[in-house]
Order: sequence, then structure tokens, then C-alpha cells
Amino acid sequence: MTTIAERLQAVRTRIIAASNNIGRNADSVMLLAVSKAQPEKALREAFTAGQQAFGENYLQEALEKQVALSDLDIEWHFIGPIQSNKTQLIAQHFDWVHGVDRLKIAERLNAARPAHMAPLQICIQVNISDEASKGGVAPEETEPLAAAISKMPNLRLRGLMTIPAPTDSVALQQKQFRMLRECRDMLIAKGYALDTLSMGMSDDYEVAITEGATIVRVGSAIFGARIKPDSEPIIV
Ligand SMILES: *Cc1c(COP(=O)(O)O)cnc(C)c1O
Repeated sequence: MTTIAERLQAVRTRIIAASNNIGRNADSVMLLAVSKAQPEKALREAFTAGQQAFGENYLQEALEKQVALSDLDIEWHFIGPIQSNKTQLIAQHFDWVHGVDRLKIAERLNAARPAHMAPLQICIQVNISDEASKGGVAPEETEPLAAAISKMPNLRLRGLMTIPAPTDSVALQQKQFRMLRECRDMLIAKGYALDTLSMGMSDDYEVAITEGATIVRVGSAIFGARIKPDSEPIIV
């Protein structure tokens, strides 16, 4: 049996290889450990092995872990779907939010971010696969949302995030990640200072790095299978 520390090391090694392959500095890729449905001790083990950033999908579960792990200096990312009634707690308890896809959600996060905290780091979720069931704004709707968020004092727009349609085809994976990168490049050309592309999961993070990912969100490759099924059909 391999340990979390060993799997984490294996993922790091592959991130370095994928980066070096295309002449990127591996330091430009941040590994976000997706710890939804994992017990507190799994996060503790990963932290001890040097992992600092963790992504959670379910608010209540995340808040419980945050209390249990409050002795650790963890950077918390909220990566799940966001309902309006959860924005206050998300704004109070996270460093990053990856799935912003509505103006109303951004406004509520901005209003609820406590003044003594650093601005909440935001990625706009873009739906590049045009699947009606998935969250995210259409690429052409990204700019108006980016413009609005850029004016909000308690939010800091960092970039874009996507959850592409799952596929075994590397060519299709590449195409989807490239679409997100092009969307980001279009915004940069219009003057937005975006430095983040949050894309790539356990099955495709190396392809995502090749296409410019700066944050890869990796769960099962680090922690193994999740102990309880996702309550929401976020990924297949
Ligand atoms: C669960 C999840 C991941 C990680 O998925 P794995 O396939 O376990 O790596 C990444 N991003 C989001 C938004 C998720 O919900």
C-alpha cells in the first residue's frame, strides 16, 4: 500500500516532468490537494508531507475540518458549486473561491468578506464544454463578469477555472484546456491582470500543465478513492 506522502511525491514528480517537458518552470504550477470526502487525518498527513493548499467542495464538511485542523497553516480553496445562502461563510473562511459564475454570487462574497482579511482570491468558472448540467459562464460572458468583479474592493480576480467534459481523448482534453487559456489571453489583451488558470484533475493534470495550467486540482491521485460518494454530480 502506498501512503499519501508517497502519492503526493509521485504527483509532484509528474508536475515537474510535465513542466520541464515544455520548458516551464515547475514553480509556476501550484498543486491544490482536493480533499473533499477525505477524513481530517488524511489532510494532516498531506500537510506533514509539505502540502499547504487544500480544496474543498462542501461547505459544512470543510468548516468542520477547518476547526479540527486550526493548528495548521493551511490555505483553503472553495472549489464546489456556490449557493447564495453559503456566500457569507465562504467569504469568512476561505482564501480562494474557484467557481464564481454569477454576478450575484460575486456581490455577496464581496459584501461578506471581513475587512480585516486579505481580499478573497477569485477565479471565474467558465463552461467551455457547453454542457447544460455544468456550472460556469459561457466564454463570451466572461468579460462582463470580470469587469464587475474587478471593481469589487474585497475580491481579487486572479483568473479562470474550468471543469471540462470528461474524456479519454488527449486531443479533446488539450482542446478544452486551450479554450480556457485563450479566454484568459483575450481578457489579458483587454487589460485584465490575470495570472491564474485553474484546470486539470487527477486524470488530466499533465495535459493541463502543457496547456498552461497554473493551478491543478488533484484529489484521488493523492488521497485514493473518496470514502463517501459525492452528494452532487460535479464530476463523473
Ligand atoms: C473533485 C474535484 C477535483 C478533483 O478530482 P480528482 O479526479 O479526484 O482529482 C477537482 N476539481 C473539482 C472542482 C472537483 O470537484
